[in-house]
Amino acid sequence: MSPKKLTGAEIRDTFIDFFVEHKHTAVPSSSLVPGGDATLLFTNSGMVQFKDVFLGQDKRPYKRAVDSQKCMRVAGKHNDLDDVGRDDTHHTFFEMLGNWSFGDYYKKEAIEWAWQLLTDVWGLKKENTWATVFKDDQGDIPSDEEAAEHWRAQPGFQDGHVLYFGRKDNFWEMAETGPCGPCSEIHYDRGIKYCDKQHIEGHVCAVNGDCARFLELWNLVFIQYNRLGPNTLEPLPATHVDTGMGFERIVSVLQDVDSNYKTDLFTKSLDVLRSLTGHSLAAMESDFTPYRVVCDHTRAAAFLIADGVVPGNVGRNYVARMIIRRAARFGTKIGLHEPFLAKVAESVIDTYGDFYPELTKSRAAILDNLTREEIRFARTVETGTAHLENLLNELRAQNKTILDGRKAFELYATYGLPLEISRDIAREQGLDVDEEGFKAAMDEHRIASGGGKAMGKAGGEDAEFFAGILKDLHKNKKLGEHGVEYDPYTSPRAEGEVLALVINGELVDSASFGDQVEVILPKTGFYIESGGQVNDTGYIRSLTLPSPNGRGGLPSPSGGRAGDEGHWEIEITNVRKPSAGVIVHVGEVISGQPKVGDMAIAEVDMTRRHDIMRNHTATHLLHAALHQVLGEHARQAGSLVAPDRLRFDFNHPEAMTPEQVERVERIVNDAVAADMEVIPKLKSREDAIAEGAMALFGEKYGETVRTITIMPSSFDMSVEETNVHPSAVVQHEHKYSYELCGGTHLDRTSDVGAFLIISEGSAAAGVRRIEAVTGRGAYDLIARRFKALKQIAATVKSSVDEVPRKVESLQDEIAELKKQLTAMRNEMAQSRFSGQAENIQKVGDVNVLAMEVPNANADTLRSLADKFREKYPKNGAAVLVTGSTVIAVLTEDLVKRGLKAGDLIAAIGGRGGGRPNMAQGNLPNGNIGDALEKVAKAVEEKLK
Ligand SMILES: [Zn+2]
Ligand SMILES: [Zn+2]
Repeated sequence: MSPKKLTGAEIRDTFIDFFVEHKHTAVPSSSLVPGGDATLLFTNSGMVQFKDVFLGQDKRPYKRAVDSQKCMRVAGKHNDLDDVGRDDTHHTFFEMLGNWSFGDYYKKEAIEWAWQLLTDVWGLKKENTWATVFKDDQGDIPSDEEAAEHWRAQPGFQDGHVLYFGRKDNFWEMAETGPCGPCSEIHYDRGIKYCDKQHIEGHVCAVNGDCARFLELWNLVFIQYNRLGPNTLEPLPATHVDTGMGFERIVSVLQDVDSNYKTDLFTKSLDVLRSLTGHSLAAMESDFTPYRVVCDHTRAAAFLIADGVVPGNVGRNYVARMIIRRAARFGTKIGLHEPFLAKVAESVIDTYGDFYPELTKSRAAILDNLTREEIRFARTVETGTAHLENLLNELRAQNKTILDGRKAFELYATYGLPLEISRDIAREQGLDVDEEGFKAAMDEHRIASGGGKAMGKAGGEDAEFFAGILKDLHKNKKLGEHGVEYDPYTSPRAEGEVLALVINGELVDSASFGDQVEVILPKTGFYIESGGQVNDTGYIRSLTLPSPNGRGGLPSPSGGRAGDEGHWEIEITNVRKPSAGVIVHVGEVISGQPKVGDMAIAEVDMTRRHDIMRNHTATHLLHAALHQVLGEHARQAGSLVAPDRLRFDFNHPEAMTPEQVERVERIVNDAVAADMEVIPKLKSREDAIAEGAMALFGEKYGETVRTITIMPSSFDMSVEETNVHPSAVVQHEHKYSYELCGGTHLDRTSDVGAFLIISEGSAAAGVRRIEAVTGRGAYDLIARRFKALKQIAATVKSSVDEVPRKVESLQDEIAELKKQLTAMRNEMAQSRFSGQAENIQKVGDVNVLAMEVPNANADTLRSLADKFREKYPKNGAAVLVTGSTVIAVLTEDLVKRGLKAGDLIAAIGGRGGGRPNMAQGNLPNGNIGDALEKVAKAVEEKLK
């Protein structure tokens, strides 16, 4: 096979470099979302971004292009989804390598270059390479003898390896009318061991045959006609070349593996999956399908999200949702139930991020969208598939094999079970699902639910709209005079009737799966973003009252449809207050069909909220610590309290010293360890301020304010009788921290866990900013840093504790080696210089030396110049070059004769200056030899 095994990335690079060397412009892949082509769901070939160029509707600044194009084939005419996972060659997402000529080169060059790249550069065997060319099976269009002749003319091309095929294989058309032409395919014979039909009697391996031995590698399309009608072709004024090579396939051939999934493009993803399942290599290969599907779909999903296609209910977004859910379901087949796709996606970003930087840029969005979609799916998949099983049982009982598409759509509308997954499950049992019926039901539903209408309302209109809703609810006695009751402090759960549902800025009676919906309840425990603390997220779900038979209202996966008929769930991602008295939960229906009037329970995601509370209480401790270390002027100037970190801006004129930062961190951690009480209290504003509570400049406070006091717990025993640390005695009398604050807090400071400052920097003039983590975030940071430290220790062969000393001694060693290297280079330059006496040129009575000194620096050149002048105290001129540095020296007598060192530098094309007898400058990139040859002549002319 090839002389050396190239990685996938190297194969892509050699393809692009090869054509760049042949004067092609490397063009980046266009997005998976085709621009300006509404008929196409996804970019499905390299042609898409150049279509308008061929149609003459677009012009590019280049006539030759080379690219690797991202493609998706998962819907519409080109749909490979059914084959993905079942075999080793199909993908939903793949890359297409191509070289392009727009009215420039044609068949001769295209064939010559293809041959050179495949056989010379990549080392494929010439005797195993075949080419097909066009010969019309209908006898109307001339045969492509031109291409055939070019193939036969290639060095080493085997006699008889050109084969003729008809319109189906070797004539390419863009559409019913428009540009078209013959194409020439390159096939490769991988040898009899790759034939998977050897056991079938009468089977003959052949190009365009039905076994895996001959692979089509590359299709060269020669566009030379314009089709005007079914029987009319006219020659185009200019001819074009459009080629396409499936990237995964060429990688599998060059890496000599029998599956695209065994190339290094998938190695990292498979390794991640195996580390999660604990399967051996052999166990994985014996049940390879789930692995293939998960790898393929995760890769596709990562690329889709990077191009802005997130999971949703319609069109492209539906595809993103479907492939993520399908990947998650295949994951369950190999025992993966926790969200795991983000881990696989990390390996995709690692493998592809260098060539497709959009992946690296969108890392957070990719990981976040995958995990969220997996969590949503996990909440409904069991109930959904249990219902599907019931439907399939009914089908069998009726001796039918095809499930009604409408019923399949109901499963999607209620449980988010995409058609493709229902069909997978049905097919696993020898049944099927009516796809047309599903699509018809989906379209009807979309129209009925008003999909496609403009989103939301503008500022004032929004407030007016919700004020109107409040007025009606008030009139109907559904809400009291203060509107929605708000209590994020005492209970994270609130029960009540669904008072209103809003979709796309309009009131609706009900919503269904996938709808973006706004929900109003009589009360809520969700915190609304304010005072720097971000809002809560969580779920609202139907509250089914216990049924008379006492079985309760829980969903019953196997017990038919009665138990969970009305069950629904909404994932809440935002909470807002569009007008006074109205609080709106914003989210997406993840199962069932919520209706106005249903009883519901709203529950805050308490894991996340707890992280937020740790950060909020820690913020108050940080504020107090800054006062202790920096002084009373270090007042809050802004803050962000999020689940993963806290950010605190404060007034301080200069950067904190590392010691100050360390002290603040320690004081906060001491306050955490002191297990102080955090006490919220409502007070009149006047009282609170009079007591010295810290109020924030610019914040608006009502007449009644909420205060947060942090102070040591009161002891049952008298302080004197216990063995308490003296500082605790002092603090007992004082509030440790006292602030006006509407946020949610821990009960005790010890719950913060640990507090670590990540950074201290400038936020604005006179304002500093600290970012910090607590609790789980702090643990993650410690674990990550510790792992890095252990890796460093292993690399420098030392223990963790010894690392600083070891690194320091390595630095010393490097510095010493650098010194030695410089000295050695100097010495080498000197001795080389000494041996150059014969290179002295005589220009009249003047000794001229022009030489390049490799591996030197300016200092060395100067010392060599001095040496030259020692040897030639009179009549000496020298020009010395190393890299781009040039030095010229002259003896005084020559200066007196009107020569200047700077003139010599200028004479050889350099730039620089200095004294008349010595100048230094730069020589722009170019041929140093040529430049140095000009020196003697310049001396001669200046002395004339
Ligand atoms: Zn065969
Ligand atoms: Zn606060």
